[in-house]
Formats: sequence, C-alpha cells, structure tokens
Amino acid sequence: MNLLLLFDDDFVDAHRVRLTGRRREHVMHVHRAGVGDALVVGRAGGRVGEGTIVRLDDDALELDVVLDREPPPALPLTLVLALPRPKVLNRVLAGATSMGVKRIVLVNAWRVEKSYWKSPRMSVENLLLQRVLGLEQARDTILPSIDVQRFFRPFVERELPELARGSLAVVAHPGARDECPRNVGQPVTLVIGPEGGFIDEEIASLEKAGFAPVSLGERVLRVETAVAALLGRLF
Ligand code: SAH
Repeated sequence: MNLLLLFDDDFVDAHRVRLTGRRREHVMHVHRAGVGDALVVGRAGGRVGEGTIVRLDDDALELDVVLDREPPPALPLTLVLALPRPKVLNRVLAGATSMGVKRIVLVNAWRVEKSYWKSPRMSVENLLLQRVLGLEQARDTILPSIDVQRFFRPFVERELPELARGSLAVVAHPGARDECPRNVGQPVTLVIGPEGGFIDEEIASLEKAGFAPVSLGERVLRVETAVAALLGRLF
C-alpha cells in the first residue's frame, strides 16, 4: 500500500480520520508505523497529501491529514474486457486501475464461462476492493467506473460504437495481421478477449463496430500480461 485511501465516512472532523479494519492492520503490521510517523494519504475522488499518525492501537488508527496535491493524470483509455476467470479478474482490475484506467466495461463473450458471472468476486464489495487496491498501489484517488454488460451482441452493435466515438478503437487479438500501434497520443478504446480468445463472429462484429484487430506478436499472453503490455505500448 503506497497510499492510504480515505473515504468521507473516515473523517471525524475536517482534518482528522479514524480508521479500523484492513487499513489499520496494514499500517500497524506491514508498515510497522507508530505515532508521529507520516504516511501518504488521499481522499477518494480528491487530493493527495500526508497523514500524521496521532493514535495507533488494536482498536483504531487516527491521522491528522493535509491534502495538498492532485492525483496523477488519468490514462485516456476505456478498457472493454471479456470477463476472465474470477482470480484473473481481480488481478486485471487492480492492475488496470493502478495504470490509470478510469473506465472499465466487463462484457460477455462466447468463451466466457457462465459461472464466472455468478462468482462472489463479482460482488459490488469485491469490485470496489480491487479498484481500491489498484489506487493504493499507484497513489491515485480517482476510482474507475465499472459497467457490466451481460450480452455481447446488443452491447457491441448498439452501445460500443457510441462509447468509442472520437477514440482509436482496437481489439487485441493474437492472430491479427496488423501490429498494435505505439504511443498513439489520443484516447483509445481497447477490447480484450476472454482467456480462450474471441471467436471469428465476435471479431467480425467488433470490426463492424469500427474496431481494428491488432496483435502484439505471435506469443499468446495471459490476459493480465496482455493488458499491461498493450497499455505500455499504446501510451
Ligand atoms: N487462445 C486464445 C488466447 C487468448 S489470450 C487465442 O488464440 O485467441 C486472451 C486475450 O489476451 C486475447 O483475446 C487478446 O485480447 C489478448 N492477447 C493475448 N496475447 C495477445 C497477443 N499476442 N496479441 C494481442 N492480444 C493478445
């Protein structure tokens, strides 16, 4: 945790927060911090600054906070992700959030197993926790949005063209003829396939919606590796 993310409910007055649970435990046992130590803090949706510990015991962590800087700039990227296996989903959400993605769409695809949609990892609480972990990792405060789309075709045909308007629209596909462009200097809408890949019909629908298939080369990468490699290359 490189930043302690604070929410409105944590504030007991304008400059003081009181934390319990995961964050208190982490500061006590991982940071091994004590009264008088300063930590990097940030207010969800707001500024970043310093928190000085005024109390730390088994019940609570209290800090006096000064928020004086803006969080890092966002990545101008919308990530449309075919729902991966729950464990991988956690990693991709936290990873993409730490890289500055602010808009995530989880979409169904032919090779997405139906059970993934019912996983406890799809709970509101877990989807929030993974993004919070990503923000804490990257010292950011702006939570990305998550939009859940259970039906591939209506989403791709009716909503995706509008969502991608004004951006470079690409679908990452290992077999694609064109290579993924570099340092594009413009907003991007990036579609990532499921762990088994998109089927031909899905690639055809995406092409019809204005998406160009692009490849990172002949190595087939894991979803989380592909996302990191694609973002590093596009920006
Ligand atoms: N067996 C599948 C592999 C899918 S990998 C197939 O051959 O299509 C899961 C997703 O990661 C892919 O759908 C794609 O979006 C992305 N990906 C993985 N390796 C890639 C590569 N070399 N180039 C482009 N995208 C890649």
